[in-house]
Amino acid sequence: MKTLITNIKELLQVRHTSIDKLQGQEMKDLPSIKNAWLLLHDDLIEDFGTMDSLPFLEADSTIDATGKIILPSWVDSHTHLVYAGNREQEFVDRIHGLTYEEIANKGGGIVNSAQKLQATDEESLYQQTLTRLKEVMRLGTGAIEIKSGYGLTLDAELKMLRVIKRLKQDSPIHIKATFLGAHALPKAYKDRRVEYIDEIVNVMIPKIAEEQLADYVDAFCEKGYFTVEDSVRIMEAGKKYNLPAKIHVNQFNSIGGIKAGVENSALSVDHLEVMTPEDIEVLKGSDTMPVALPSCSLFLSIPYTPAREIIDAGLPLALATDYNPGSTPSGNMNLVVSLACIKMRMTPEEAINAATINAAYAMGISKTHGSITKGKKANLILTEPIPSYGFLPYSFGSNHIESVFLEGKPIN
Ligand SMILES: [Zn+2]
Repeated sequence: MKTLITNIKELLQVRHTSIDKLQGQEMKDLPSIKNAWLLLHDDLIEDFGTMDSLPFLEADSTIDATGKIILPSWVDSHTHLVYAGNREQEFVDRIHGLTYEEIANKGGGIVNSAQKLQATDEESLYQQTLTRLKEVMRLGTGAIEIKSGYGLTLDAELKMLRVIKRLKQDSPIHIKATFLGAHALPKAYKDRRVEYIDEIVNVMIPKIAEEQLADYVDAFCEKGYFTVEDSVRIMEAGKKYNLPAKIHVNQFNSIGGIKAGVENSALSVDHLEVMTPEDIEVLKGSDTMPVALPSCSLFLSIPYTPAREIIDAGLPLALATDYNPGSTPSGNMNLVVSLACIKMRMTPEEAINAATINAAYAMGISKTHGSITKGKKANLILTEPIPSYGFLPYSFGSNHIESVFLEGKPIN
């Protein structure tokens, strides 16, 4: 099955040779071809070029993209898409002045989500998550990482990971699963945090690895949640089972999580709203991708990740949604790209690079996703007619996506 797309106003993020990530100054450059054609063969990108060099090609279907832009689909490398029910009451509580921590102390927050999830059967959890997954696919996301972490018991964590496995099998979107047992301390382990880590390291990770239910491990490394030492134990246990780490660090405090992540070869360190000069220094020369989650900052009214400091220090940066019921009930990568420009002073080029190729790196899939490169997955966004790609982040809150192609086929 071959699909030819012609008269593309601009084909974005064209990389003739595969790259795995971009850092510092490199992020300012977003290579493109104006007045382009693009040929898809089954699920892959076969070829592309300028219209004046279009050879005679036999295709099963041809799409005229006059006035429209094509870019690789978004990659969302950090989500908590599997959850049961919503938490809009807490949203209202926050409007009335309660803090994130006060809500958690009232029995809300992650522990509240865990209780709901434990009481929800697997089929219902699958259907709720599938609805969200279809929504983000329509919004242009073509690869997504999904974490567990609202189970907090072996059975409930396995239930979440089985839901993710089923979604992997059933959906055209590329999915990676991350085990986040250390998301919050379950009530049953009150004042026994180290014993809960023992359970994660000695029981949960071996079982999850045996059933091949996860690709990565994660921990919420933060004051009042899990310490750097807890997080290191989880990262070390993950390594034993070939499950690299992607960890939550520096959302509210800088306690050494980034250094621990780098030392343990974490694939990514995520959140980074609070960064010290030492945190930036330790990332230099590492293979760990910093990931910013600006829609979480928007929703919680907390600081934004200092993207300028990170990129101007020569580091890479990726963007993701953090889609979850408590702090970011949105999986809209278009909004994330806008917020990166509006609130983090990233240029449209930097933001698009951060949401495609660098985000693919943060999911371990930059060989197959995140750029227009021959042989990569044909996962694409076709926009409506728009004046330029800068119009996408500029016109925040509007959806200018006409269609999304995953594995070479338009989704409904
Ligand atoms: Zn998160």
